[in-house]
Amino acid sequence: MVPQIVQSIKSIDELASFCKRAGFVFPSFEIYGGLSGFFDYGPRGVELKNNIKAAWWKAMVHDREDVVGIDAVTVNHPKMWEASGHVSSFTDPLVDCKNCKARFRADQLVKDVLDSDVSGMPLDEITALLKAKNVRCQKCKGEFTDARKYNLMFKTHVGPIESDENVAYLRPETAQLIYLNFKLVQDSARLKLPFGIAQIGRAYRNEIAPRDFLFRVREFEQMEMQYFIRPGDNKKFFEQWKKERLKWYLSLGIKKQNLRFRPHKKEELAHYAKQAIDIEYKFPWGWGEIEGIHDRGNWDLTQHSKFSGKDLSYFDEETKSRVIPNVIEVSAGVDRTFLAFVIDAYATEKERIVLRLHQKLAPVKVAVFPLSKKEKKITKLAREIFKTLKEKFVCYYEESGNIGKSYRRMDEIGTPFCITVDFDSPKKKDVTVRDRNTMKQKRVKVTELTKYLEKLLQ
Ligand code: ATP
Repeated sequence: MVPQIVQSIKSIDELASFCKRAGFVFPSFEIYGGLSGFFDYGPRGVELKNNIKAAWWKAMVHDREDVVGIDAVTVNHPKMWEASGHVSSFTDPLVDCKNCKARFRADQLVKDVLDSDVSGMPLDEITALLKAKNVRCQKCKGEFTDARKYNLMFKTHVGPIESDENVAYLRPETAQLIYLNFKLVQDSARLKLPFGIAQIGRAYRNEIAPRDFLFRVREFEQMEMQYFIRPGDNKKFFEQWKKERLKWYLSLGIKKQNLRFRPHKKEELAHYAKQAIDIEYKFPWGWGEIEGIHDRGNWDLTQHSKFSGKDLSYFDEETKSRVIPNVIEVSAGVDRTFLAFVIDAYATEKERIVLRLHQKLAPVKVAVFPLSKKEKKITKLAREIFKTLKEKFVCYYEESGNIGKSYRRMDEIGTPFCITVDFDSPKKKDVTVRDRNTMKQKRVKVTELTKYLEKLLQ
């Protein structure tokens, strides 16, 4: 029987301090006072994050015949962002406090104070609403300026001269270089419509107000796949990808009741989107987007053809005609997904905190503990077992002498199995294997250990 869950995670602060203590996530630059919107992944966090990315890549690329991957640069040509519409439209509405000069994202402010969703509302209407409802600065109660556009892209310069001609942008999404490489990928991988190009990588957004731990940060990672289709097939593939993507989260253990689709309203649609839907997770602070699915029509390829003067059309052998493919995009945030997996798996039970992570995601799969650190026969056997098992699984070895505490530490990071080498082990040639979920222990012969674990961890 699985022990009874006493409590799941209650607040973002509880989550952040748990992640820090257990070695998942640390605030960046902490000894210099930190920098808002930046976090580093610790020893446990990097493993979990890599496992999430590997599971996505396997499902989206390796398990499919119609999707290939790329890995493109993150410092990007300005023309590309002009063509994509990001230079003019990748903006959030910003208001300043006239008194203390604090800056707020206006739509977020309206959501927090008035509990109303104004995504996509024109700036003058947001200004009027804030005035009509007498919304004041959350820090000093001062009056706000009119709302204005604020571009989220980080700007930099390429080369030693800081002039307008040398401007480049850190990418705020991974998608655009997939469009630019579309022809090269299609030709070299000999792909026919419909096909997809996937990419996992860093993205940068100079968010006005980073918040909610990893949920809104300034440097993050995305897992994106652009699926190129024949014009007219949009609805079919949009629906297909909705199902596929939901299935992925469920297959890795996220509870069904904590996921939902949220279609975008017309006013809310990004400049490139014909139709869009978010996959949302039920965070302790409310529902929030973890992935966006967008029907981008032929916007991107058309724009890049126009701005570059290069033909990005596709000759369809089946219909013997030239078309500009349409695109269905699935775009998930690694960091938000990471949060969702941790929150969903976290439970406080009577005597322990446990992360019931899917075994594919668990940072450590098997821990090996000798019951005594003084008894040479025991430590020798434990080390031998560790050496054999680490060829197959990510393993952890510890001579702590306090087995209860060792188990608790492994429960907290979600290790599915703990092996204890005890006083009987050297003679009987067997060990105990403890199951994280049930805390039950079973004696298993040393010679059968690899097979036994392989079966459970496959
Ligand atoms: P939001 O409306 O919350 O700002 P978005 O709609 O702009 O998000 P997309 O452009 O669709 O987000 O990006 C795809 C995914 O990238 C999101 O679903 C999210 O998981 C992730 N993402 C976007 N912005 C951030 C951020 N600032 N911090 C962490 N993850 C992010």
